[in-house]
Amino acid sequence: PSAAAPARRRPQPALSYELFPARGEASWEKVQRAVAALEATRPDYVSVTCASARGNFPRVLELVDHILAETSLRPLVHLTSVGSSTQELSGSIRDLLERGVRGILALRGDIPPGYDTREDEFPFARYLVELIRRIEREETAALAAGRLAIGVATYAQRHPESPSHQHDIEVLVTKERSGADFAITQAFFDPAEYSDLVRRARRAGVTIPIIPGFVPMTSVRRLTRFAELSGVHAPAAHLHALETATSPEERRRIGIAASTRLIRAVLDDGAPGVHLFTFNEHVDALGVLEQVDLGRWASSPVSA
Ligand code: FAD
Repeated sequence: PSAAAPARRRPQPALSYELFPARGEASWEKVQRAVAALEATRPDYVSVTCASARGNFPRVLELVDHILAETSLRPLVHLTSVGSSTQELSGSIRDLLERGVRGILALRGDIPPGYDTREDEFPFARYLVELIRRIEREETAALAAGRLAIGVATYAQRHPESPSHQHDIEVLVTKERSGADFAITQAFFDPAEYSDLVRRARRAGVTIPIIPGFVPMTSVRRLTRFAELSGVHAPAAHLHALETATSPEERRRIGIAASTRLIRAVLDDGAPGVHLFTFNEHVDALGVLEQVDLGRWASSPVSA
């Protein structure tokens, strides 16, 4: 290219948030407040989690209906296959499409302790991706407005059941071949782990965007709970700094600064977006975002 050619600008990073369905009346009000506050930042989508054996699916639908009816947001609905037959999953997929959902994160879900695998359930998430694509083909009339977006999970640190990083990459290759459009990573705390995942994935032939997922690093309780659920631990030195902070303001400042450093490092490395696991605590998520400054707003998201 000639020196006079305009420099190619990198596309603006995508922005998305993860929300939990409510567990009771108080948490329903809290998630509604979070949805309203996050909407002001105009994310590309908000994802709605689902319990691993889908016991809370009515609550998932309640939040999805709220998002579709009351906001301009696009929901990405997490669908877990463990504990459900193909027929049950097909019914839920058709139900989501009828409601107007056009994005699904296809997951296997964690195996509950002591769980006896059913003969009629999918062993791996890639079969759920294939099922969603099959139903999409059957429902082309209903889906006149376009194709479904299907996301899948991937892991910057090895998945707890996986024998190696390379195995995780091979699993991601099969998910893309089954029809996934993009992947979201489990949270991580070392930017090199994300770079390593992307490098290995590209070498193995993965072409879909790999969007990094982040837990705001402001709360010891949240980081500890997250480690229990995912097996991914925040650095001990960071937990110590939060524990020994002399005030809630200082703790928040330390947490937001650490999250900002991590997210900036990953964006500088070429990450195509930022996915924040909010735990329905929008104030900290927005605090992080304001510091990261994705350049998406005329004014800061918190004051918007
Ligand atoms: P899979 O891709 O099926 O992988 C499961 C295991 O099987 C892995 O160890 C993998 O290495 C192995 N495997 C896959 N394919 C093969 C194969 N062909 N041969 C041999 N081994 C194979 N959980 C929830 O319950 N609800 C949620 O809402 C939720 N949201 C999440 C969102 C994100 C962004 C992420 C990253 C995770 C989320 N999880 C959620 C957690 C996820 O369900 C667990 O990590 C689960 O243990 C694996 O799900 P998966 O979809 O990655 O499964």
